[in-house]
Amino acid sequence: MATHTIVDLTSVRANNLSRVLNLIREAGSISRAALVRQTGLSATTVSALANDLLASGFVHESGTGRSGGGRPPILLQFDYKFRHVVGVDMGATHLTAVAMDLQGCVVARHFCHYDVIGNPQGTMATICQLAERVIAEAGLEPSRILGLGITIPAPLEGQNLDRLTTIYMPAWEGLDLLGTVQQAFAFPVYLDNDANAGAIAEKWWGVGRSFSNLAYIKLGTGVGSGLILKNEIYRGNGGTAGEIGHTTIDPDGPRCRCGNRGCMESFVGAPAVLAEVARRFDGRRPAWAPEDGLTLNAITTAALAGDPVCRSVVEEAGAYLGIAVANLVNLINPGLVVLGGDLGEAGDLLINTVQAAVLQRAMPKAAREARIVLSELGDDAVAIGAATLAIQHAFEPSNLANTLKTTERR
Ligand SMILES: [Zn+2]
Repeated sequence: MATHTIVDLTSVRANNLSRVLNLIREAGSISRAALVRQTGLSATTVSALANDLLASGFVHESGTGRSGGGRPPILLQFDYKFRHVVGVDMGATHLTAVAMDLQGCVVARHFCHYDVIGNPQGTMATICQLAERVIAEAGLEPSRILGLGITIPAPLEGQNLDRLTTIYMPAWEGLDLLGTVQQAFAFPVYLDNDANAGAIAEKWWGVGRSFSNLAYIKLGTGVGSGLILKNEIYRGNGGTAGEIGHTTIDPDGPRCRCGNRGCMESFVGAPAVLAEVARRFDGRRPAWAPEDGLTLNAITTAALAGDPVCRSVVEEAGAYLGIAVANLVNLINPGLVVLGGDLGEAGDLLINTVQAAVLQRAMPKAAREARIVLSELGDDAVAIGAATLAIQHAFEPSNLANTLKTTERR
């Protein structure tokens, strides 16, 4: 019995510590009295927790808050630069790494094209190199990094959602991405799906800050969504929630890489848009196209500059995307739908088409309530989300003991 009591007390304390630390982090600075009000904990408990946090170095006492008269309260201030995190966005054809402080400010960034799908061993080695590179470029000591988040362009599976589904990435079959990268670093490494990370990034730092229910749609080689419901990422029963790209738009449509026919992704994914533009130009290279081949960036740029073929292809993709978004709006009634990824560079051209489809097809009330906007964080949204995962995990009750250690690790 005694052992149970101690274990229980420890977890209660870890939970309280996590709540208080996260409140201070979100507020920037806050008084002990405000923490008492917001947590319902006693003043004695908050004071003891605050002492632990002051000793950890994450929190300082500074400044004075507003006072109702008498002695002004001393504020607890979060030090956003006391530790940093690293995020790597692993796309199908690129890697983006960022080092970030605890306030979402990117302090170093590196991007490279890479054959992630076809070259898993090289990808894992490059992820480690890029992480080391952004840490060094930002002038950070590896011992002061809280963790590394990596996002993958596929759903996660396994008991702990720590393995990637290899249906779209057969060359990765049997490989342990998390274990391999973890061996290279003393700080913890975490995995998540790329669209989930985009949703988390927009919720923490971007356009989604004031929304409790939102969807982030990543428009890349594949199309996926991250769903935030009641302020938490929604993963579904087995971790595959949000696979909006594989919802059926046309029962007789082309075969998709998932095996189904007529998936939204087979009309909206980057390969489909590139193929459609190439088909309409019938093998000729348009004047605006780069010499080494069509890119999505060149297509969206040409569309915005008024090229009629590119405009029409982007609008058609937007109309298909809009059908899927209308279905999503009917299903989860989000306050916000954020479009990110390469096709998002088409800006208002894409937004207006998707908006029109949603207004035409979704339940009027849900359609009116759903704001459809572009990502505020742009190309780095997913990498920033990957880094944010490391913050989120570091301040969870189960990881706090390790996070708050003031002694240098390894
Ligand atoms: Zn599919």
